[in-house]
Amino acid sequence: MDKGKEKFPVYVTQPTLPPLDDFLPYLAQIWESKCLTNAGPFHQQLEQALCQYLGVKHISLFTNGTLALVTALQTLRITGEVITTPYSFVATAHSLLWNGIKPVFVDIDPVTLNLDPARIEAAITPQTTAIMPVHCYGQPCDVDRIQKIADTYGLKVIYDAAHAFSVQYNGASVLNHGDLSVLSFHATKVFNTFEGGAIICQDAKTKSRIDHLKNFGFVDEVTVIAPGINGKMSEINAAFGLLQLKGVDQALAQRKVVEKHYRRALAEVDGIECLPELAHKEGNHAYFPILVKPGYPLTRDALFEKFKANGIFARRYFFPLISDFPMYKSLPSAASANLPVATKAANEVICLPIYPDLALQQVDFIVSLIAK
Ligand SMILES: *Cc1c(COP(=O)(O)O)cnc(C)c1O
Repeated sequence: MDKGKEKFPVYVTQPTLPPLDDFLPYLAQIWESKCLTNAGPFHQQLEQALCQYLGVKHISLFTNGTLALVTALQTLRITGEVITTPYSFVATAHSLLWNGIKPVFVDIDPVTLNLDPARIEAAITPQTTAIMPVHCYGQPCDVDRIQKIADTYGLKVIYDAAHAFSVQYNGASVLNHGDLSVLSFHATKVFNTFEGGAIICQDAKTKSRIDHLKNFGFVDEVTVIAPGINGKMSEINAAFGLLQLKGVDQALAQRKVVEKHYRRALAEVDGIECLPELAHKEGNHAYFPILVKPGYPLTRDALFEKFKANGIFARRYFFPLISDFPMYKSLPSAASANLPVATKAANEVICLPIYPDLALQQVDFIVSLIAK
């Protein structure tokens, strides 16, 4: 392998950027129209284009995924307690605290690492109003079982779908499940608008409530219906999203090649497990987690340090668990005895670098560090 040609360091992800020249006409249009934000033409075009690309009915764009999560909870007037996963990015639970809601952590499934439907019912109390699962790494949750529980107990379901851009489940978008799904378009995600996010909903009335809530609660010039936030996506971000969307199929295809390469090479390595590829879904190859099992000669953290020493900056997503952060750890549901599967996964996982431009030579080098 010719290491001289490779780029070091390698980070867990790297955004795909279209040629700068391709973005200039969009900027020229913004300069000419002087329309910078507030549901301008690019904002409207991107909403339409994403509905079509993702196969969803209604989408409302946001400044970022976190404000979209906070607003999703307000859209459905969620209060009291919400059942959620400890194995996620901290923004999932933060969105509950920002609404004065008590998170109730439920353990995850050992295969998919998503919220375990078999454990949800035991966590429901008279205060429970909703379930907030996460399609972790873009692996679809068990959406049918979750919906059945929600219907039985009269609960809402809001998916944190920050990892699930373009993910298909049983031949249709996974984003059509639940009452609402929330996307993130942060720079580290599969599809990015620098910063950005969105809420997907099923009807026009809900979409209009979301649009009011992200614009201070304004319905018209003189009517404010709620203490809404400013969550509007700007025209620059929306224009960039339109340009990004043109290249997203190719980016997903390149990610798939990288994932296949990892899977083939790592199948031989004792003590390293990959998450299973599920038959009824088409993923987006957003992340490539491995589990470092007790049979492997190094601890997870020793392997993580070995990567670093070799210029490979992998990430321990998700470690620590959300439930271990100071603002959550005193909750009864945050005890590690309540979350044995999540606790184990958090101590075994490393997400390896994966992005469209990652050279297969680099993948081979990363695998060689694991195998040696
Ligand atoms: C990225 C992410 C978020 C937050 O999205 P931002 O756009 O960065 O605010 C929320 N939840 C999960 C699971 C994420 O990965």
